[in-house]
Amino acid sequence: MSAPSPEYDYDVIIIGAGVCGAIAAAELASCGRVLILEAGPDTADRMDLVASYARAVNKNPGSPYRDPDGDKYAPTPDNSEGYYVKDGADSLPFKSTYVRRSGGSTWHFLGNTPRFVPSDFMLCDLYKKGVNWPLRYDDLEEDYCRAEEAMGVSGDHDQLQGLLQAKRSRPFPMTHVWESYSDRVIGQRLNGLVIDGVKVELLSTPQARNSRPYDGRPACAGNSSCVPICPIQAKYDGTVHVRKAVAAGVEVRTRSVVFKLEADDTGKIQHVHVRSYEGVDTVFTGRIVVLAAHAIESARLLLLSELPNSSGLIGCNLMDHLQGAVVCLAPEPVYGFRGPPTTSGIDHFRDGEFRSERAAFRLSLGNDGWGRTASPADVLKKLTDAGIVGSRMRELAEWRLVRQLRFSFSTEMLPKTHNRIILDPDPEQKDALGLRKPRIHFEMDAYSRAGMEHAGKVCEKIFKHCGGDEVTITVARDGYNAAGHIMGTLRMGEKKSDSVVDRDGRAHDHSNLFVLGASVFPTCGTGNPTLTAVALTYRSVRAIKAALAPESAVLS
Ligand SMILES: Cc1cc2nc3c(=O)[nH]c(=O)nc-3n(C[C@H](O)[C@H](O)[C@H](O)COP(=O)(O)OP(=O)(O)OC[C@H]3O[C@@H](n4cnc5c(N)ncnc54)[C@H](O)[C@@H]3O)c2cc1C
Ligand code: SF4
Repeated sequence: MSAPSPEYDYDVIIIGAGVCGAIAAAELASCGRVLILEAGPDTADRMDLVASYARAVNKNPGSPYRDPDGDKYAPTPDNSEGYYVKDGADSLPFKSTYVRRSGGSTWHFLGNTPRFVPSDFMLCDLYKKGVNWPLRYDDLEEDYCRAEEAMGVSGDHDQLQGLLQAKRSRPFPMTHVWESYSDRVIGQRLNGLVIDGVKVELLSTPQARNSRPYDGRPACAGNSSCVPICPIQAKYDGTVHVRKAVAAGVEVRTRSVVFKLEADDTGKIQHVHVRSYEGVDTVFTGRIVVLAAHAIESARLLLLSELPNSSGLIGCNLMDHLQGAVVCLAPEPVYGFRGPPTTSGIDHFRDGEFRSERAAFRLSLGNDGWGRTASPADVLKKLTDAGIVGSRMRELAEWRLVRQLRFSFSTEMLPKTHNRIILDPDPEQKDALGLRKPRIHFEMDAYSRAGMEHAGKVCEKIFKHCGGDEVTITVARDGYNAAGHIMGTLRMGEKKSDSVVDRDGRAHDHSNLFVLGASVFPTCGTGNPTLTAVALTYRSVRAIKAALAPESAVLS
């Protein structure tokens, strides 16, 4: 590790120890003195977190991750409606959550890692909707390969080669996770089905989950507890790279909430202000500052800092993938409740001319029966309510449970400036460190609604074609379910007037500030966001290394 430049405390200060911050730290460790500032606590013993989940009364994605000191200091938004402030009656509640803890939100992510497809980067050119990205699929292809290797993605290379024009230059590091029995049954029954002119086919879903021992972690044991926690770390999470970064010499300070960035006259971020849980403030200087605090907190921090906002877009264009589900009873036993929550899906509706009218979507076939929409206990309750008991109840319960099937659809939404985070002006709405809470405005647009309605009908057709019975579209409260895919609050683009960062993630207004993560996505695409965020991280890392090079004039 080299000595820091004398005028700075650190060569690089990274805000946030999630997957993007941790991978950047591991990559930059050899470039100088690197510090990660992480708002949440350190990585606890994994089994303590598993036990904490087991003990939780309300079992939601955030329940293992409560800070032992309580949520007083670094609020864990597992109860999103308690932390986010809803902006007026027109706004829907924003439901997606994240984890404040070293390792970040990959602790509780499902682990699906499809790439975006080429059309996702050029929605405006192709369909006159949303905006284009300032880069294309081909610009990211190599970085997608790096991201798949870093996260340990299992997938079927031959099956996905060329999917919707997405070329793959390298195989996945591991072969695909075995398909479940229900995948086989439905895959065979789909035979010959054509919907909207598209031959429907079940494809293996790429996932950051080991199909064999990889990178010192075991193969998946298939017990479906990935959200909120994989007890054996067969599923990738950000702690893998926090560990690698620390081994390479990076310093990590946890329970360190960055609350203000201060710029000098030239726009360079000069001071990084940090508050401890005890309320003690410290200031650090870094030659490069990397903001990797995820879409809500990264935007919130820039707003708290009252920095220049040339585009006026800091916090705007908040997006998520809007989810719905369709359930049915399969015509034959499919024996769910075994394997990761999903292993296969249908990707063909992620692109087509229809995107000029309605949103595209991706379908996942569940391995968990109706577990997401109703628990097995609901089946028993229905039967006992109908007066069915004893051996007849057992027979009927088994008959239903072994046939339960679910498709979930994740629908794209358009970037809209009114879907945004602002700082709550109400002095009562502050967190325990006295920082203003995010106030969120979030509406569904007609384009997404039309996509969701169509997705429901497509699932219905598929299940009916397969001989499914009791096919039901399950509508969530408020008309949508959150995917946990928080995107778009600090969009990338060509110009200072219409975007916050450039194609390398460098802030247009601050030459030494880089933003990592899905906050920079200009549109939300049709795949889960993390792999794309990591691919972009590798791109940003190259730009940061260039900026750190002694001959670089960028920072002087
Ligand atoms: C239930 C669920 C399922 C999901 N499933 C999938 C999936 O299958 N596939 C997929 O691609 N994505 C999925 N996601 C989304 C995925 O979890 C995120 O995209 C990803 O983890 C974001 O990584 P990140 O590094 O950008 O941010 P994070 O992992 O959120 O890391 C940000 C870090 O910054 C820290 N931080 C925040 N504010 C500050 C501050 N002021 N000072 C210092 N530190 C700060 C946080 O504590 C956190 O550790 C899911 C999400 C949820 C909720
Ligand atoms: S199914 Fe079980 S072992 Fe496999 S990734 Fe999920 S939690 Fe881990």
